[in-house]
Amino acid sequence: MIYKRVILKRGKEESVMRFHPWIFSGAIARIDKVEEGDLVTVYAHDGKLLGNGHYQIGSIAVRLLTFDDSEIDEKFYAKRLATAYRMRQALGLLRDDNNAFRLVHGEGDFLPGLVIDIYGHTAVMQAHSPGMHFARNIIAQALTELPGGLVKSVYYKSETTLPYKAQLDPQNDYIIGSYDTNIAIENGLKFHVDWLKGQKTGFFVDQRENRSLLERYSRGRKVLNMFCYTGGFSVYALRGGATLVHSVDSSAKAIALTNANVELNFPACDRHEAKAEDAFKYLDEMKAGDYDLIILDPPAFAKHKSALRNALVGYRKLNAKAFEKIKPGGILFTFSCSQAVNKEQFRLAVFSAAAQSRRKVRILHQLTQPADHPISIYHPEGEYLKGLVLYVE
Ligand code: SAH
Repeated sequence: MIYKRVILKRGKEESVMRFHPWIFSGAIARIDKVEEGDLVTVYAHDGKLLGNGHYQIGSIAVRLLTFDDSEIDEKFYAKRLATAYRMRQALGLLRDDNNAFRLVHGEGDFLPGLVIDIYGHTAVMQAHSPGMHFARNIIAQALTELPGGLVKSVYYKSETTLPYKAQLDPQNDYIIGSYDTNIAIENGLKFHVDWLKGQKTGFFVDQRENRSLLERYSRGRKVLNMFCYTGGFSVYALRGGATLVHSVDSSAKAIALTNANVELNFPACDRHEAKAEDAFKYLDEMKAGDYDLIILDPPAFAKHKSALRNALVGYRKLNAKAFEKIKPGGILFTFSCSQAVNKEQFRLAVFSAAAQSRRKVRILHQLTQPADHPISIYHPEGEYLKGLVLYVE
């Protein structure tokens, strides 16, 4: 199928020949009259057809969906979704004791601009590009056709993810079905997932494996879960046998959600307390040695490359406070989910913090995103979650 034409400048086809799915606006020589979200066919300067994708106004002008002339229709989405589903099944993520996972991770599932998380029988879908916004209904339909009747309702949540300037006026709403139970199960633990009002799709499924690792280190420890949001790490720490868990988040809603999730799994638990406070203030005011396991999982400090310098200073300061206060023999789980900060930069920020505290620090584990957030080998930018588990003497 041939759509409206985008012709690249000479030499600008190179990254596309290596299957990178983005065409930057500066690479375009000529373009037909197109509207935001239109399907386009991209050609090299010499007329060679490179692929089909979604056009959008902005620095990434085209997100390629194919590297040939295949039609982008319902069948196309059904096929890509079925592939994504088979992979999650192969990963062992659809079980009686686990029904929360990411089904589609944008470029990592060869569907740039689209994110879909599954909670039980509900799919929560986010469009990051106008093209995916326009395709939302056929994608939702294709979701209901996945094997095993997995998806019964589709909640569309793109108010905050679509480019603001596109003026698409998306409304967060059910496209298919309606509100069902919002309790998701992750590794046998239950969580209220608030996809209606919560951040992102309502839960951070990307920390599943890191939470499991934390569980293994929790026995007999006093745990501080900083930036707790839904209390994911706290609930795993409690199951792992922590003697005490303090969950801290500046948002009162997050604290209520954490308390509800602890109650759901460990009714009347007297080992847990949640506190609505600012992270930096809390770390400044707490006594040294109060905790021997600290989790730092802050929001992305750098949403864009321009914020990189400040973000690195932020990570250094935050981690320095934890190094200063953690009990000798303590373990620090520290994360960055900023895409703009790479592994080396994050590690350097944590290294500077450690040196500043003059503590003896060793790396026990280097963590990343789980397999249901795959990284296309052709799109290394898809790697965003970085974590270090450190032993602090
Ligand atoms: N660890 C969580 C995800 C953290 S999301 C999980 O496993 O699900 C980041 C959280 O940091 C949000 O809930 C946000 O409310 C909180 N936050 C942002 N700035 C903060 C600050 N200065 N102090 C404390 N919490 C903050």
